[in-house]
Amino acid sequence: MRKVFVLFALCFFVSGFSMSYDISVTLNPKKKTIHGRETIKWRNNFETPTDIIPLHLYMNAFSNNKTVFMAESGGKHRSFKLKEDKIDNFGYCKVKSVKVNGENYTNNFKYIRQIKNPERLKLFKPDEITEIRVKPDNTIGVIFLKNPAEKGKEITIEIQFETKFPKIFARTGYWKTFFMAGQWFPKIAVFEGENGWNCHLFHLNSEFFADFSDYRVSITAPKDYVIGATGVKVEEKTNGNFKTHTFEAKNVIDFAWTAWDKWQVAEDKWHNVPLMLLYPPGLKHTVKRQFKALKSALDSYARLTKHPYPYPHFTLVCPPPKAQGAGGMEYPMLVTGGYTSYKIPERLRFPEMLIIHEFGHNYFYAIFATNEFENAWMDEGINSFATAYGIEKGYGNQIDLPFLQVPPYTMERLGFVMYKGKEAPSKASWEFISNSVYSTLSYGKPTIYLRTLENLIGEEKFREIFDVYYQKFAFTHPTPEDFFSCVKEVAGEKYYNFIKQAITTGSRIDFAIFSAKSQEEQKLFGYDFNFNPIKKEKKKSKDKEKTYINRVVVENRGDFKNLPIKVLVVLKNGEKKTFQWDGSGDWKAFEFKSKSPIEYAFADPDKVYACDQNLANNIKSYTSKTTKTIANYSLGIASLFELVLNTLSLGI
Ligand SMILES: [Zn+2]
Repeated sequence: MRKVFVLFALCFFVSGFSMSYDISVTLNPKKKTIHGRETIKWRNNFETPTDIIPLHLYMNAFSNNKTVFMAESGGKHRSFKLKEDKIDNFGYCKVKSVKVNGENYTNNFKYIRQIKNPERLKLFKPDEITEIRVKPDNTIGVIFLKNPAEKGKEITIEIQFETKFPKIFARTGYWKTFFMAGQWFPKIAVFEGENGWNCHLFHLNSEFFADFSDYRVSITAPKDYVIGATGVKVEEKTNGNFKTHTFEAKNVIDFAWTAWDKWQVAEDKWHNVPLMLLYPPGLKHTVKRQFKALKSALDSYARLTKHPYPYPHFTLVCPPPKAQGAGGMEYPMLVTGGYTSYKIPERLRFPEMLIIHEFGHNYFYAIFATNEFENAWMDEGINSFATAYGIEKGYGNQIDLPFLQVPPYTMERLGFVMYKGKEAPSKASWEFISNSVYSTLSYGKPTIYLRTLENLIGEEKFREIFDVYYQKFAFTHPTPEDFFSCVKEVAGEKYYNFIKQAITTGSRIDFAIFSAKSQEEQKLFGYDFNFNPIKKEKKKSKDKEKTYINRVVVENRGDFKNLPIKVLVVLKNGEKKTFQWDGSGDWKAFEFKSKSPIEYAFADPDKVYACDQNLANNIKSYTSKTTKTIANYSLGIASLFELVLNTLSLGI
């Protein structure tokens, strides 16, 4: 823990993040609103001055049917839909007044769609909106400073705001008296010096990007409400029928909370970290299962990265059954799991997968805080790998029935191998051809290519990559190249090229056995090399006396060159031979003599290439049709299960 705190301090000074939010809000459960004020202290740490401060007002994505989010989503998120028939189902975040350093700046605040002279926003790059029906909405607001903020200048911004929660369908909102407050307050965008402000509209496929900050948040709600939040509760004060709950969190990139008068509370511990579970009435029997999954997640991420969870508290929220739109979402020190999935038997580890995954974002979303707008794979992709790693370490198989075992990586595999396009994972989340391609490439491809990397270099070396990544880039905003550079430092240039090619291009891996043939060796006949006639012998040699000349051709049908591959050849008499190919060139033939013909040849028998595009072509038999059928069937059935499971799996 000590190491972590030193690192905390170090990052704070080295990267120069210095920001704090002091927020007070009052929840009105009847009106589904919060009225609040926030004081933000922000300092320019770059040489480049700025005369604007852009703010994210994410809740405005739900204000009407013409926002970018609603136009892209059609009012649907995962399988949940906004019911458009009631005005109360919509939400917003209204900025009511702004002060900068004590001076009234309300007239210097504009929503992005109100800005008539965008050339003033030379530091600000709003997204190119190409579809005619989609215009910039109110999900960004801009404060125009009267004097540019120079390097080292700290400014104090005071904002009064009103947030109306939408009826929950996409992460945040209300259902009856339940509230999940995510992306609920005006939040400063990320300043990148000469690269300007990194601030995008709220898109369907995009999650979030923010700077590290200290938070102190006071939430006043009716006194029978239970509140769970990012941070540690430092104060609780009752005033008449209301109670004010104050939380503090240090060095986090976001702050979320939930309030409900029906919350049930369970507590546990992981080492010295207090764990809290908020769950709906009637789910007491799942408490043990949920804590087991959470602790298993804490263990496996600490193992993978060699760094334990660094924050002083963690809250797991299991949303009410009718508010599943709040489920499966991550915030620092607080995540939401799912309810309906608890009907699933314990040997189908989908609730576990969800909890492990959402917890895991506390590493790849909260601690590393990569830019999810522009490179979702750095969070979702690495985290999906780590989820499968966590299931494998904590539970073994994803599905573990007596008649069916499915390992965790299988779950991410099929979505990608079924995808036939050429897009690469590394691009802005709204630039993918479709929602499902965004998911396939941001989650699935990085998962199975990272798994392949682990298989190629071994788990110990692989974990070193994450150790180095953590030591160098935790609490900063690493770029894709930063991650690749850690692969290079630990595993070398070859694997740096491998992972970079996988992430930045549409490349795929596909090894295949092109042919596997055996021919009985025959004695010479015809004219020998001195032109003497030799007759072919009539009598057939006995099985024992026979020898065979065998030829196995392995082919690299993928886009990666110079990757090593093992080929296993099994002979009819049970004898096994293995060959190695360094992967240079397009194909390689192995020839050998034996006393028995080939039964079958198998490319990559140890399944190192978890990402191999087509497993069915990895095996070819020569002698027995039955073997061929069985071999192909067993590989094919694995793929078939992948397909079914992928269809059933939660859209996380
Ligand atoms: Zn995720």
